[in-house]
Amino acid sequence: MEKVKGEIENAEKEREELWNMLSDRIKRLYEKLVATKGSAVARATNYTCQGCFTGIPPQLFLEIKKGERIMQCPFCGRILYYWEESSSDEG
Ligand SMILES: [Zn+2]
Repeated sequence: MEKVKGEIENAEKEREELWNMLSDRIKRLYEKLVATKGSAVARATNYTCQGCFTGIPPQLFLEIKKGERIMQCPFCGRILYYWEESSSDEG
């Protein structure tokens, strides 16, 4: 019984470490992007990265829209997030 309990604790610790590792990686990526590009994140609208205004592949755009994983623009490297375009009239 003690063994099983220990294994569960280990698994939880492992998951926590994995998460810490991931967020640390993203944190470093973020800092690097800010230093080199001036901004680390960019909106993805109409299949276009609003950071470098380059068209992104539809499959990648769908992944960003799902928001399950952190996706980077293949052209400028910025972390992309989906933003639904508002239908407000401009000009
Ligand atoms: Zn880009």
